[in-house]
Order: sequence, then C-alpha cells, then structure tokens
Amino acid sequence: MDRIQNFINGAFSDPISNQWIDNYQPATGKVYCEIPASKAEDIDRAYQAAESAFESWSNLKSSERFHHMMNVANGIRERMEEFAQAESKDNGKPVSLARAVDIPRAISNFEFYASAATQFASESHYTEGLGINYTLRRPLGVVGCISPWNLPLYLFSWKIAPALAAGNTVVAKPSEITPMTAFLLSEVLRDVGFPKGVLNIVHGLGPDAGESICMHPGIKAISFTGGTNTGKRIIEKAGTQFKKLSLELGGKNPNLIFADCDYDEMLKTTVQSSFANQGQICLCGSRILVEDSIYEKFKADFVSKVSKMEVGNPALDTTKMGAVVSKPHMEKILSYIEIAKSEGGEVLCGGRRAVLPGELSEGYYVEPTVIENLDQECRTNQEEIFGPVVTIDRFATPAEALQKANATPYGLAASVWTNDLKRAHRVAEALHTGIVWVNCWLQRDLRTPFGGVKNSGVGREGGFEAMQFFTEPKNVCIKY
Ligand code: NDP
Repeated sequence: MDRIQNFINGAFSDPISNQWIDNYQPATGKVYCEIPASKAEDIDRAYQAAESAFESWSNLKSSERFHHMMNVANGIRERMEEFAQAESKDNGKPVSLARAVDIPRAISNFEFYASAATQFASESHYTEGLGINYTLRRPLGVVGCISPWNLPLYLFSWKIAPALAAGNTVVAKPSEITPMTAFLLSEVLRDVGFPKGVLNIVHGLGPDAGESICMHPGIKAISFTGGTNTGKRIIEKAGTQFKKLSLELGGKNPNLIFADCDYDEMLKTTVQSSFANQGQICLCGSRILVEDSIYEKFKADFVSKVSKMEVGNPALDTTKMGAVVSKPHMEKILSYIEIAKSEGGEVLCGGRRAVLPGELSEGYYVEPTVIENLDQECRTNQEEIFGPVVTIDRFATPAEALQKANATPYGLAASVWTNDLKRAHRVAEALHTGIVWVNCWLQRDLRTPFGGVKNSGVGREGGFEAMQFFTEPKNVCIKY
C-alpha cells in the first residue's frame, strides 16, 4: 500500500504516532493509499519549523519571495498532467476539469501572489498642517491554512500563496479526503529548493490535525474554507485566542433568470453552474428561480439537457460528470433527495445513485437531479446539499425573485440573467451575497474580493484583501 508523508522543515516525515488513514478513490470506492493521521504533536513540530523560518522569510526582499513562488508555479506546471491525474483520482472529478481548471488555477494562484508581493503597498494620510500618518504592514508570523476537498489544490494554494507573499510562514492542512495534490506540491517544494520550514504541509483529520492548528497558541491567524458548522467551531475555538480568522463557508446560491435574457447562453451556463464538479463547487447555483413567462419552456429545455448528461469514469477525457467525493457524501446527497420527496418535491430527472459497470460498480456516482414543486422555506432549499441536485421555482416580479433569492441563511454568490441594464444593477445591489454574476458564472478576476455574507463566511479572499488579512497594520504618526 502506498503512503504519503507530511512535509515539515523541508523534509518528508511519518506522523509521530505512526497512525494512518485510508484514502479512497471515489471512482472505484477502493482504498488506494494511506495518509498520515497527524496529531497535535505533528502540528507543533510543523509550527516550530515555521517559527524558525519566519525571520529569514519575512526579511527577504519581495522580489526574492517572487522568485521562490514563481519556482513553485513552474514546478507544478512541469508536472501538470501528473497533478491533473492525481486530482481526478483523489477527488472523482473528470480529469478534463482538473486539467482545464484546477491545476492551471493553482499555478495562477502562485503566480498572481508572487506578483502581488512586489505590488503590495500601504496607505499614508497627510494631516493638513500637522504631519503625516503612514501604515506599516508587517506579516503576522506563523499562520494556519485549512482547505476542503472540492477544489483541493486550487483552494489550498489560494490560501497559502497570499500568506507566503505577505511574508508569513505557514502550517497547512488539506482535506484528509483529498490529500494527494498537496503531497505532490510538497515534492515540488523539495525539488525547487523552496526555503526549509517556510511552508509545512501536514495531513490528518479535521477534528485532530485541523483543530490542533486552530488551537496552537503560536499560530497567529487561520484562513479556513469549508462547511459552516466547522467554521462555527473554529470561531469558538480559535476566536477566544484572539486569532485573526478568515472563513469561507457554505452556500445555497440562487440563479435569477428573467425572460429577457439571452436564452441559449443562459441555458448552457445554467447547466454548468448546476452540475460542474458534480455540483460540488461552493459557487454552484442550486436554487434556480425563473420568471413565470418562460418557466415551462425553461423546465422542458433544462430537463432535456440534464437528462442527456452521462455520469462516467472520471479518468476518461470525454467524461463531463464524474464521481462525488466520498461514500458518506454520496449518502448525504441521496438522503437529501429523499427529504425533497417527503417535502412534496417532484423529481423531474435523476434522483438516484448511478451504478457503473465493472471495477467502477462500487464508485460514488449520483445522477444529475432536478426537482420542482418545493417552496423556498423547505429543508431542500434551505440546507446546503453540495452535490448534483438543483431545484427550480418560478417568480412573477423582480421583488418576488429577490425575496426568494435572499430567503436562506447563506449569502455567498448569485447569478442574474437579464438584458435590462437597470434591472441588473438594482437586483445586484439588493442581493444579500458577496458575489453577483450578471449574464455569466464563475468568471473570475483574481484581484476582486471573494467571500460571502451571513452564514457563508467572514472576511474576503482575493487580490490585496488577502494580503491585508495576512498582515498586521501599524499606524505611525509623525508630527512636522
Ligand atoms: P469541512 O468543513 O468538513 O472541512 C474543511 C476542512 O476543515 C478540511 O480540511 C477538514 O479536514 C477541516 N476540518 C474539519 N473539522 C475541523 C475542525 N474541527 N477544526 C479544524 N479543521 C477542521 O468542509 P468540506 O471539506 O466538507 O468542504 C465542503 C464545504 O466547503 C461546503 O460547505 C462548501 O460550501 C464549503 N466551501 C466553501 C467555499 C467558499 O469559498 N466559501 C469554497 C469551497 C467549499 P478533513 O476533511 O480532514 O476532516
């Protein structure tokens, strides 16, 4: 059985306890390697390495940090295909998606923040006749980065890169469910001679290794992406230690489709925004709200397209829908389909586990599912399912669309489809979300603030927002 290892102080190591966790391949449902079940003692070892490396890393010129980070980006690029295959095997996502989105974006994250290191500036305030204030922004020290399984390397690097660019050293934990590309990243760090102890990657269970990062008294900030309940627990644990927290949490995103939109473009994109990555993107739209006059047409066209989507082997280049990430997650998704039925929902297509032939027969596959006839207050429309399941509902007026769109405890993202410019602005402003896409979905400019409101999170990632999070401002006031 293959094993992966922690990467601490520039070297690979086993967990001190010598305990290991099985890692499953979602496509087959079989264990294919073991990963360290790291504990508090491993986190402390990683912390000590990061603490020792902090002074030299934080005092490097930003241009030197730029070069180190670009080396990492190039190191991943050189092994692009291997990374894509590993991401697909570990997560169940189609290899074509890993190749087109996950791994290129991880490379961009390192490149973008390598440049940001050299561009980041701080503020100054001239006080008329009296003097000047300027803001020093220094790195925090050792910071913790914890990421989920849905976009493994993409989200892992989205946290690590700004933390490093701002001059911090890092203890990072990927999801125990999808550790493989973080392990390959460790190999890249070793191969490019990344300075020892600056980035330490520790594998293990969330409540064990993850919580030990949050509780470590020396770790100054936690950047976390994951579920809302885990986020709450991190606030309870780490918040009382006055750590800085950036929390990117769950979503229950609405799509608002008005009759005057570009229909074909909307239809194509709505299929993507519903089922990309098997619906396991925090930004997927799972509540589709359609204006009355086009509801029946949309329903017929959407269901027709979704019914033709084939669930298949993620390793094949032609597959568009792969496996969901784990057996418990598949069971959770299927249980929500049963909840939807018990709430009076009508399943228009999908609704079952998909069973594939041969060695894939134990894999975790769920048919893309469309449900109607549910009000927005029911559990299906209030709770995050995070799988290939969407509901469709109708609205008569923009006010009703907004009321329905805003009627959940979440507030991450929304898509609006209309060609009425004034309405687009009004609706975008009135939506209770951190991100609004108009006539598109998932179009990202890495300079923009990224994050949610309400139960979808605290703080923003992206651009200089992340650099600000990973630095402590100090005001210096000079009297003339
Ligand atoms: P979890 O909250 O279960 O886990 C996220 C990470 O936190 C994992 O590394 C996990 O480790 C770790 N973890 C679990 N428990 C603790 C704990 N007590 N203390 C510290 N760390 C812990 O989320 P999922 O991995 O299931 O990811 C799916 C969720 O992520 C969805 O809710 C989705 O909406 C959200 N998400 C949000 C995004 C955003 O930008 N807002 C983007 C992507 C996803 P382990 O897996 O090893 O248990």
